Amino acid sequence: MSLKNTLTCREAARLLLEDEDHEIPAADRLALQLHVRVCFACARFVAQLNLMRRATRAWRKHSETGDDEAIIE
Ligand SMILES: [Zn+2]
Repeated sequence: MSLKNTLTCREAARLLLEDEDHEIPAADRLALQLHVRVCFACARFVAQLNLMRRATRAWRKHSETGDDEAIIE
């Protein structure tokens, strides 16, 4: 991999985690997408993050809307 635009896996992971907190610059996002396209390990990492994100979002929604539900004693 000698493409200028290609990130190392370490950089890709850092950007992915950064993207969880705040939007990363478009150029970084593009480089990330390019990397994930050619790197199986990082593609799997992305899939896991997406899964986690969905689960977290579902849980948050549940815990926000579930306040009125009966409290188990
Ligand atoms: Zn990678």
